[in-house]
Amino acid sequence: MRKGTKTFLIAIGVVVGILTLLVTAIGFKFKAEVNKMHPLETKEITSGVYAVNDGIVNMFLVKGKEGFIALDAGNKTENIQQEMKKLNIDPEKVTAVFLTHSDSDHVAAVAIFKNAKIYLPRKEEQMINGKTARFYVTRNKINFKYTPVDGDEIIKTAGLKIQGIETPGHTPGAMCYLVDNKFLFTGDSLSLQSGKVGLFSKFINMDNETQLKSLKNIASMKGINYILTAHHGFSDNYEKAFTDIK
Ligand SMILES: [Zn+2]
Repeated sequence: MRKGTKTFLIAIGVVVGILTLLVTAIGFKFKAEVNKMHPLETKEITSGVYAVNDGIVNMFLVKGKEGFIALDAGNKTENIQQEMKKLNIDPEKVTAVFLTHSDSDHVAAVAIFKNAKIYLPRKEEQMINGKTARFYVTRNKINFKYTPVDGDEIIKTAGLKIQGIETPGHTPGAMCYLVDNKFLFTGDSLSLQSGKVGLFSKFINMDNETQLKSLKNIASMKGINYILTAHHGFSDNYEKAFTDIK
């Protein structure tokens, strides 16, 4: 083998070795972050508000006078189907699905909600059309029709009032949804630890500074009874939850 070829092969070997180490380290870090998550078991949290457990994540259902709405759509379709059976709620009674953002563990089971209109934050479109990459290299995928929602837009369906509230940071289009002025569904826009609001995983967030600004924007909202997160359970004390954010 010529000396030049040998040097070249060694250089390739070193680069491949470094990349493998890097990918492994990122994998471990990601797993450690997921292990910190503590989603709720499938259950009715308070009258007409249900958590649906999908391993690492929760989606939620709210009962209105004319059906149900869903907040996010889980990580695996079969899990969501199974858990909804436990609650005895027919996915076909869901009139609308409100997606907080486009990460794969929030959108998987959309297809089982056959009669639902699917809403996605308008500013999240950049995550699925190739304009903005997730984790620097990947693209979030969505293979269903949706209606874009703008910040502060109010939608009425199933006898419920749903307001979109832009809370960018986790992803640029991340949105919370306020249902009937009482229940705030936050997706991955915040974490809850011992009842206190904090940033979601800094490692998984796309922009921590922007997320903190978003949290400050919603910290002084009044009249909210419940904060419901996708990976960190819920709080029924809004003021206490935001004491460290103001
Ligand atoms: Zn996410």
